[in-house]
Amino acid sequence: MSEVDLRTAVHDPPPSGGDALLAAEPAGAQPRLLSLALRALADATDQLALFAKAGDLLIRVDADGRLRRVSEAARVLFDDDLDALAGTPVMELLHPDDAATFDLREAMAGPHLYRVRTPAGGDRWLEARCFPAGDGHGGTDGVDILARDVTDRQLAQEAVRQAEERFRLAFDMAPTGNAIVLPDGRVVRVNSQLTAMLGHPEGELLGTVWSDLVRPEEQDHLSAFLGRIAADDGPASCELRMGHATGRPVHAAVTASVVHEADGHPAYVILQVEDITARKLAQAALTHQATHDPLTALPNRTLLLDRLGHALRRAQRTHTHVALLFCDVDRFKRINDSLGHEAGDMLLVELARRLRERIRGADTAGRLSGDEFLVVCEELARPEDALVLAERIRSITDEPITVGDQAIAVSLSIGVAYAAPGDEPAQLLRRADTAMYEAKERGRGRFEVFDEALRDRARERLLLEGELRQAVGAQQLRLHHQPVVDLHDGRVVGREALVRWQHPHRGLLSPAAFLDVAEESDLIVDLGGWVLAEACRQGQQIAMAGGGAHMAINVSARQLGRPDFRATVDAALAASGFGPEQLILELTETSLLHAAASTLADVEALTQQGVRLAVDDFGTGYSSLTYLQKLPVRVVKIDRSFVANITDDPQRRAITRAVISLGHALDLDIIAEGVETAEQAAMLADMGCQLAQGYLFGRPAPLDAHPA
Ligand code: C2E
Ligand code: CA
Ligand code: CA
Repeated sequence: MSEVDLRTAVHDPPPSGGDALLAAEPAGAQPRLLSLALRALADATDQLALFAKAGDLLIRVDADGRLRRVSEAARVLFDDDLDALAGTPVMELLHPDDAATFDLREAMAGPHLYRVRTPAGGDRWLEARCFPAGDGHGGTDGVDILARDVTDRQLAQEAVRQAEERFRLAFDMAPTGNAIVLPDGRVVRVNSQLTAMLGHPEGELLGTVWSDLVRPEEQDHLSAFLGRIAADDGPASCELRMGHATGRPVHAAVTASVVHEADGHPAYVILQVEDITARKLAQAALTHQATHDPLTALPNRTLLLDRLGHALRRAQRTHTHVALLFCDVDRFKRINDSLGHEAGDMLLVELARRLRERIRGADTAGRLSGDEFLVVCEELARPEDALVLAERIRSITDEPITVGDQAIAVSLSIGVAYAAPGDEPAQLLRRADTAMYEAKERGRGRFEVFDEALRDRARERLLLEGELRQAVGAQQLRLHHQPVVDLHDGRVVGREALVRWQHPHRGLLSPAAFLDVAEESDLIVDLGGWVLAEACRQGQQIAMAGGGAHMAINVSARQLGRPDFRATVDAALAASGFGPEQLILELTETSLLHAAASTLADVEALTQQGVRLAVDDFGTGYSSLTYLQKLPVRVVKIDRSFVANITDDPQRRAITRAVISLGHALDLDIIAEGVETAEQAAMLADMGCQLAQGYLFGRPAPLDAHPA
């Protein structure tokens, strides 16, 4: 066909408008064009006319393969330059590739795609079929081509193909793990990044429901996410922990995009899964750094107060209780100064370790600063439950801490504060801090609970202690005496010395106001020493004035336990010249019961000198008279509480009677205390009680009020 020569001009005289095909036609006149074309070609082939449709191109090529005529529709294709086209070998119009492979028989067999070079240079796609052109005499003369410009369709198809290819590339080569899942969640396609990310081969992933790959603890996040995907309102994203085949979690940022069918129904969902594990871990490390103490790895102040804030709010919702434990290492500065900071640090690290080991899961232990630790206790059924923990924490220092080759004995002072509704972290912290100071005040290595009264009491006690310390030297102490009488004749046989404090502002204070403070500090030793010396001095004064009576002195357990107790008594006797046989030392049952062997030996020695021992407040403790027999006790003072009820409580009366008779049997002197009425006195006398003391006979008073 390529060898065919061009013989005929395109512009053959149009018979009856037949060649109007080559005349200019306004656009949009295809139907008329078609009919014209069909008429023009009717003589060529009826068959062709049957195939022709609106917009089809009809091209006649002569036997030489040169263009003879083209229909108007081809005008656009050939860029209007119809004159230049006439006689052009048709093969020159074809894309060289298509020209090279052109096969006429094939072209006649059915429509094929050909690319045509337009004069402007662009390619158009034609779907064309060739037919033998009739010569009007039953023979053939050249070829008629019925063609359709399918460039747009081809381009659209190409665009789709390219889009598909781009998608395939994007899907397969993306840095994210990708999956296509059906609306029911089943995975139908995955890329290699996803298989690598989750450690499952493709075969294991296909067919599974993707949400099964999410770790169970993410259930809440997952449900919310699935809800958003189902809502189908644009791409949805969520951070989820997915499970790697090895079991380790994969932190993933998942984005789901729904792809729709033409009718708008969801066709499938594209999941893009980004492995953000490294980022999460880095983030966690950063957060950890910002919220933890680098030395002990415990939560730092920031995190502690944050947790405390959360705990306080949660407690209100759950109606549980929160307590704060403020722990301070006792004398840490001394340890630091003497052993060096490194040793101090090691000590803190070990303390932190023990602390962490001892707390419950619901508690948070952290380092507040320096040597201060905080424990936030949550979910307590009762606030007091925190005390169990406080004791456990206190006991972490029971074992010394070994630093290098040194075993260091340390202790913790712990302040406990219970949260009240509406408390702010800072408030609770202050209270726990105050309680911690109270624990230090009270001797360290212990815990104290904060309460308002405690703070007031502590403040008052502190003040009182300071004042009492001055009192002895400032001669503010006084001795009052209360007579002990013989019930038979009312004769004063002795006196009990009772201490008073002439306070500069508060007037005369009775022992109840200050003895506790004195007992808790070592002040009781000084005070007791003064009473002992003063009582002996006054006793001797009375004796010198002719009153041969005993002097009873109260001795506290602490005073008794002093190794120099005996020496103090001896010194008081020696200094005053008071006779030991006139001295009675009153001790409570409990202090006698708890006395050490050495103390008892001292007391024994004193009794050898003639000093008598009395059991004070008998009946309020747990001892029995038979037990007291083993001690060098000579006098029993029946407690006031028995005497007060003697007239109307038969049981107390019976006990009192028993004590009196047993006392006699054991050769003990019995003194009934707190006798206020004549009736009591008569009844006691009746029971055989010989001695008594009480308001009935005389109130405690200074010596000059009732001189011997
Ligand atoms: P106590 O040894 O039992 O002293 C007797 C207390 O009973 C005294 O109270 C006294 O005033 C009170 N009393 C005496 N007769 C009656 C009465 O008929 N009715 C009532 N209701 N009370 C009566 P005081 O002086 O307030 O002393 C209280 C406690 O303080 C003493 O109890 C004693 O345990 C302790 N105490 C007093 N002086 C000293 C002291 O110098 N050293 C030590 N260690 N303790 C002392
Ligand atoms: Ca007494
Ligand atoms: Ca008493």
